[in-house]
Amino acid sequence: MSVWDEVIGQDEAVATLRRAVADPGAMTHGWLLTGPPGSGRSVAARAFAAALQCPTGGCATCRECRTALDGSHADVTVLATEGLSIRVEQARDLVALAAHRPSVGPWRVIIVEDADRLTERAADALLKALEEPVARTVWILCAPSLEDVIITIRSRSRHVRLRTPPVEAVAALLVRRDGIEEHMALYAARAAQSHVGLARRLARDEGARIRRRDVIALAGKIRSVGDAVGAAADLASIAEEESSTSSAERDAGERARLLETLGADPAARTQPPHVRAQVSALEKEQKTRATRFGRDVVDRSLVDLLSVYRDALIVRSGSPVALVNQDMAEQVQRLAQVMSSEQLLGAMDAIGVARERIGANVPPLLALEAMAVSLQLPR
Ligand SMILES: [Zn+2]
Repeated sequence: MSVWDEVIGQDEAVATLRRAVADPGAMTHGWLLTGPPGSGRSVAARAFAAALQCPTGGCATCRECRTALDGSHADVTVLATEGLSIRVEQARDLVALAAHRPSVGPWRVIIVEDADRLTERAADALLKALEEPVARTVWILCAPSLEDVIITIRSRSRHVRLRTPPVEAVAALLVRRDGIEEHMALYAARAAQSHVGLARRLARDEGARIRRRDVIALAGKIRSVGDAVGAAADLASIAEEESSTSSAERDAGERARLLETLGADPAARTQPPHVRAQVSALEKEQKTRATRFGRDVVDRSLVDLLSVYRDALIVRSGSPVALVNQDMAEQVQRLAQVMSSEQLLGAMDAIGVARERIGANVPPLLALEAMAVSLQLPR
């Protein structure tokens, strides 16, 4: 067993990180791990942290490894923001922490999971720490791509690139780690386009599979502007359903725990002012998180929708590349019959534009309607 077991399909990146653990000459104080969503950036970062703390370089079973992996190691700090950005105060806290020697392990490791969400001021604060390395402190920054991180940070860290892991490797992980049946694991890995977390969710949650199929089905249904408006509303509500099912339970749990910590009676109709203030601060935080999550869910739905046009294009070109939507081959075929390659490419462009606009804070429904209008089937 090794901490690298769950870092799948990343031989080159793992070799680089392992070398750094084994050879002080290959080690450095700042690392930047990039890779597409779902490629396992944060898994790789934690594995690296564990390997650095482990007396035998990452056995996955000792106390150091286990605590580093589950986030409870005293010298491993993970900043995983659920908000839209990482604030300068958060960055400053990390910088202050970075100045301290490790308390139990050989290294102090600070992982920033979403370095692309650093505000400009937060990035500046962090840059100072990268410019003046402290012995025994290691920064591991994660981001989707190099372009997502300001150039001064890039130039002061070593870059390790993760790839999209092969579908088979993702399926094998689901079977081995999560006990998912092989056929289901393969379907989920393919449908999720190798996004490990999504694949697991699809494999385990029938609701998620149904929602995905509903999204894909939209591709063949838009025949008029009226249909387009309806399809946009459907997409938005599918995403809404997906994000509310995932957050409702968690929000309620957080609220209950907060009330308990404050010694308040959860059943009371009105709460004392200091409790109300804390609860409303929590609600604000939850709302920010919901906004980000909702946007991510819409984006994933668009990735799903994109995949069916891509598949149709593959069918038209007669290329032997595997389809993402093998389970919906009939629908892919139909789309390939009614749309030309140019039209399919046009549809893919329209989806790409909608993703960009939503990423740039255009209200999702607005962007989705404009997109859906361009997705009308040819008459
Ligand atoms: Zn170990």
